[in-house]
Amino acid sequence: MNLDFTEGELAFRDEAREWLREHVPAGPMPPLDTAEGFAARREWEATLAAARWSVVAWPEKYHGRDASMVEWVLFEEEYYRSGAPVRAAQNGISLLAPIIFEHGTPEQQDRYLPAMADGTEIWAQAWSEPEAGSDLASIRSTATRDEARGGWLLNGQKTWSSRAAFADRAFGLFRSDPTAERHRGLTYFLFPLDAEGLSIRPIAQLDGHPGFAELFFDDVFVPDADVLGAPGDGWRVAMSTAGNERGLSLRSPGRFCAAADRLLALWRERGAGHPHLRDRVVDAWLAAQAYRLYTWGTVTRLAAGGDVGAHGSVNKLFWSQLDVGLHEVALDLLGPESELRDEPWLDGYLFSLSGPIYAGTNEIQRNIVAERLLGLPKGGRGR
Ligand SMILES: Cc1cc2nc3c(=O)[nH]c(=O)nc-3n(C[C@H](O)[C@H](O)[C@H](O)COP(=O)(O)OP(=O)(O)OC[C@H]3O[C@@H](n4cnc5c(N)ncnc54)[C@H](O)[C@@H]3O)c2cc1C
Repeated sequence: MNLDFTEGELAFRDEAREWLREHVPAGPMPPLDTAEGFAARREWEATLAAARWSVVAWPEKYHGRDASMVEWVLFEEEYYRSGAPVRAAQNGISLLAPIIFEHGTPEQQDRYLPAMADGTEIWAQAWSEPEAGSDLASIRSTATRDEARGGWLLNGQKTWSSRAAFADRAFGLFRSDPTAERHRGLTYFLFPLDAEGLSIRPIAQLDGHPGFAELFFDDVFVPDADVLGAPGDGWRVAMSTAGNERGLSLRSPGRFCAAADRLLALWRERGAGHPHLRDRVVDAWLAAQAYRLYTWGTVTRLAAGGDVGAHGSVNKLFWSQLDVGLHEVALDLLGPESELRDEPWLDGYLFSLSGPIYAGTNEIQRNIVAERLLGLPKGGRGR
């Protein structure tokens, strides 16, 4: 692992730091999971894009800076350190865009990437169904061929789709060949959320905000041009997305290092009254630094031609537990006060509780680590 950054990388970091210092909105925005919070972040996405900071690792042709992975991680560190808002566009940028780059046609790339980069089209992920979460291959929503119109008709239901009530478009998997094996016969579709036949019902999250939505499909037509990858190949396409979600892209260390620094500031303010919490503050801060170093290790491996693979599951387990831990210490430092006012640590804590569930539950990640990294037998076998 090499942490000696080049002059070019340091210059890139300094430019990002300076721009963020000048442009990050001063006060907190309304919560992302509300209509007004989402609208405020749309404006922020446009501001980032106008200065070409919205998708730094993308090619210049699509509003990026052609930044290396090292530069991208440096940018993320600066982004969170500056107190910039959580991105509304992250599902599209982190989960869908890598797949469009890999599997999309040139026409799909030109049609979708620029609008994603500048926040004019914000995407939701429509994978989970009421009976298909961890076991995603058991999805039942269907796609049937509409030869006459040159496309597909989607039917069924999706659930837990984050911010689909406010977003513009979504990506999801549908069963296009009911006779094929579970993992085959799935197709990956891109569709607008205001399509005819599609109804959206918001669901409140733990904090009461309508951050989730259920989607109901009643003969929603999607043209062939909006199939991502080959029909029937959706599982393979989707799994490259899952690797991104669990791995580096969704949870860069910058977010946790920034939270760890805020925890230290809180300790300086409140610590004298809670000396018994000192070791837990130190442990939480060290865990954030460990995650940062682990990530730089992954970056080094990727730069040398490796891939994330099953190590993404280690990453996912680590960041999700780290996030809960950081917030628990902060709430203990605040004491009962944490619940008496509109306290960002409380909001952060409630959200951190979902970390072990989304992006693949931690039980599933442990199975992957056990079987694929440690070579242990599959659960349930050999007893
Ligand atoms: C904040 C948040 C945002 C989300 N956003 C989205 C989104 O935008 N789009 C989307 O499509 N989905 C989204 N989800 C849904 C998420 O992907 C699912 O909740 C997740 O995949 C788990 O599926 P499930 O809820 O059906 O639980 P289940 O799969 O029913 O699991 C229930 C419990 O059983 C355990 N379990 C299941 N199978 C096994 C096994 N084989 N071995 C051991 N334990 C097992 C699980 O770990 C879990 O503890 C989101 C969820 C959250 C919490």
